[in-house]
Order: sequence, then C-alpha cells, then structure tokens
Amino acid sequence: MGNISRRQFNRRLSQGIAGSALFSSVPLACAMAGTKSREESLGIALVGLGSYSTYQLAPALQDTKFCHLAGIVTGTKAKERIWAERYGIPAGNIYNYQNFDTIADNDDIDVVYVVLPNSMHAEFSIRAAQAGKHVICEKPMAVTVAECDAIIEACRKAGVKLGIGYRLHSEPYTQEVKRFVREKTFGKTAYVNAEAAYRSAGNPDQWRLNKALSGGGALMNMGVYSIQSTIYATGENPVKVTAQEFSTRPDYFKDTDETVTAQFQFPGGATGTVFTSHNANANSLYASCTGGWFSLKPANNYGPLAGESSNGPIQFKHESQQKLQMDDFASHILYGSVNRAPGEMGKRDMIIIEAIYRSISEGNRSVPLELGNMGLV
Ligand code: NAD
Repeated sequence: MGNISRRQFNRRLSQGIAGSALFSSVPLACAMAGTKSREESLGIALVGLGSYSTYQLAPALQDTKFCHLAGIVTGTKAKERIWAERYGIPAGNIYNYQNFDTIADNDDIDVVYVVLPNSMHAEFSIRAAQAGKHVICEKPMAVTVAECDAIIEACRKAGVKLGIGYRLHSEPYTQEVKRFVREKTFGKTAYVNAEAAYRSAGNPDQWRLNKALSGGGALMNMGVYSIQSTIYATGENPVKVTAQEFSTRPDYFKDTDETVTAQFQFPGGATGTVFTSHNANANSLYASCTGGWFSLKPANNYGPLAGESSNGPIQFKHESQQKLQMDDFASHILYGSVNRAPGEMGKRDMIIIEAIYRSISEGNRSVPLELGNMGLV
C-alpha cells in the first residue's frame, strides 16, 4: 500500500480524494479473477451476533469478493470463543458494547455492520461513524426520523459511507422490476399491491414485540418491504397515505402492531396498497401497468424469488442476497459504484412509517407526504 495506511486509503476513497494514482494501485483485475488482496477486500465487523448475523451475514461473508468478516462486537461472552474458532477471528478484533469505540484504532476493520434490535441502530451507527468506520445499518434504519437524521449527520461529519441493509436492491428480480419501471417495459404503473407478512407465534417476550426495543410491530419489521415494493414498482415516492390497524390477538401483541394496511397515492397517478402483519403469511408484489403487468411471488424473502409478467416468466440464477448486498456496498466504497441503499432511503421509509402511524392514530385520516425524490436510487 506504499507509504499510506489502509485506513488512510479507505478514508480518502470515501472522501473522493484518493486520486487516479491511488485508484490505479487497486488491482481490480485480481478481484475480477476471484482472488483477494487486503487492499481490495474491506474488513467488516458485525455488531450483534443474533440470528441474522449467524445464519445469513457471516456465511455470506465467506463468499464475498470485496469484503470479508474481520471482527465481531457482542454482548455475550460465550459467543466470542465460538465465533473466533469458527471464523478465525483474532482476539484483537473482538469487541463488546462497552469497549466498542476503541475499534477506531483497528486498521483491520473498515466497515461496521449494525445488526442489533432496532432501537439500538442509531447509537451504534453513530458510534461506528465517530470511530471513522463506514456503516451498514440494518432495517428499519432506526425508530424515529430524528434518529435517521442523527445517523446521516454523524456519517457526513466523519466522512464515512452509510448503507442500509436493504438486500433486495442488490438481487436480480428486484433490479428487473426497477428496470421495467425505468424503461417503461409495460408502460406506466397504474396500481401496485405489496404484501410482506409472517405469522409470529414464538416467545412473547422477544424484542420484536417490545416497542421500546423494536419501535413498532409488523410495520417496522416487515412493512418496510411492502412500502419499498410500492416505490420501486412505481419509481416514485408516495404523496399521500391512509392507513388502518387490525388487532385480533391483543393478548400476544400487547405492545406492538399486529396487522397494518395502507393505501398510497403516487404523483404520476398510480395507487398502491400495502398489507403487513405478524399474524399471517404473505410475500408478494403485483403491478398493473398501462401496457401489461408484472409480479414477484415470493418478493421479499432470502430467495430464490420468482416472477412473472405479461411477457412471460422472469428467471434469474439464485445467489445469496446478503453476499450481493455487502459486495455492492464494499464496491461503492472501493470503486465509487452506486450506493444502492443509502441513508436517505432508510430515512424516507421512516418518514412514511411515521405517516402511517399518524394516519392510524388520527382516525385513519389521509396524511400528505412531501418526499420529492428522497431515497430514489
Ligand atoms: P436477533 O434477536 O436474532 O438478534 C439480536 C442480537 O442483538 C442478539 O445477538 C442479541 O444478543 C443482541 N442484543 C443486544 N442487546 C439486546 C437487547 N437489549 N435485547 C435483545 N437483543 C439484544 O435479531 P435478528 O433477527 O438478528 O435482527 C437484528 C436486526 O437485523 C434487526 O434490526 C432486524 O430488523 C434486522 N434483520 C434484517 C434482515 C434483513 O433481511 N435485512 C433479516 C433479519 C433481521
């Protein structure tokens, strides 16, 4: 890496001041050939070693091209040894929530990936940015719009990149839907219906059912997928939303929303309906357009997804969505490729979520939204 450290190199890249001489020192051909040198593979530290980190992100990081699992941050002592042994993580790259900030001194870690309960996203994303690390923050980005603003500002101030864990933007079925809309393959979208739901019957004390930790129920957890679907199936942000909440198991869903439906109006004239629930299974996207239709079913699980359109089946080879997502973000940092899920996208979705909760709490009235092109990628 010559006479500058990897950390200086990555920071300069993120600030866009690396210069052509430095860019040419990145052996891209080597990456293309599937081999990695330390300079072209960013070190990721996962914060929170729960189900998503354990079963999706860490395995995916074994196959990524432009990043690798370099460190962990956990509040559970027993996990330190298990993860160290499984993934060969050196003791110096293992942190807990208290000493996390000293990650600033660790050149092996370029990116911190926050995979904690929703109410902890803001604190750890901000601490990661202040430590000079690029940040991936899981969805939903935070539990309020104000927290989203604070994360964006901390990353801006530190000169680090920020991505949201919206894996679908890196997978080919979703990208195909976005292409249909961009190229008007089926004309203009007139109506879109999106569903994202699963039936929860597990431990009633889990954090997802505890508003202080989750910020909300089905809408926060699954609703973001259906909101996102309506946006990429129209290519626009909604200008108005009306919403309803349904509760059939109040003994189980004591603290958080069970089922939410919402209706959107889009500036180009399309209407959209959204269903999200922790009490039923649903996973689809359907769009009716002026010259045909397209649909994905399933539309938002880990894949393989499946799709159809008025032109016939939509088919792509399945790859780990998490692998694609993390490589996209690393490539954004290293090579300046597009950030497929920037912080503004997470903030926009939180504005919509807050508007939906407002509509519900104010007697299902229609709530106007002034989003412009915020978060449209
Ligand atoms: P999980 O419950 O399996 O793991 C949560 C982790 O946080 C655990 O390691 C737990 O020990 C730790 N933790 C720290 N403080 C905690 C506290 N006060 N209460 C509870 N846990 C605490 O959850 P998960 O499924 O891994 O979800 C983590 C985050 O990832 C959430 O924000 C979730 O929305 C997101 N997620 C995203 C996707 C996706 O497809 N993008 C999928 C699953 C989860």
